[in-house]
Amino acid sequence: MKNLICIVCPIGCHLNIDVEDNYKVTGNACPRGEKYGKEELLTPKRVVTSTVKIKGALYERIPVKTNSAIPKEKIFQCMELLNKLELISPVKMGDVVIENIFDLGIDIVTTRDM
Ligand code: SF4
Repeated sequence: MKNLICIVCPIGCHLNIDVEDNYKVTGNACPRGEKYGKEELLTPKRVVTSTVKIKGALYERIPVKTNSAIPKEKIFQCMELLNKLELISPVKMGDVVIENIFDLGIDIVTTRDM
C-alpha cells in the first residue's frame, strides 16, 4: 500500500494506493484523485519551471516552463537543454522557445515579456 496526498486541488485528500490490487485508489473524494494516484505511481509527470539566458534584456535570465507536465525521467534532459539555450530580447510572454520537446507534443514557453 502506498500513501500519497492528492495535489490536484487544495483539499489534499490522503490517498491509499494498493499496488497489489491493480493500483486501486481509496481515500479520494473525487475521480481526479484516482487518476492522479495511479499516474503518480505508474507514470509520474511534472511541469518544469526554470530560467534561461537572454541577451539585450533588463535581466540576464528569463523564466520559462513546459506548457504541460512531462515525464519525470525527462526532467534532467530538459534542464540540460535549457542550460544551453540563449534567447535574444525582445521576447513576449508565451513565446515558444523549444517546440515539441522530446516529441512529447509539449513546448517550452516564456512566462513573461522581456
Ligand atoms: S481527490 Fe478530488 S477532492 Fe480530493 S484532493 Fe484530489 S482532486 Fe481534490
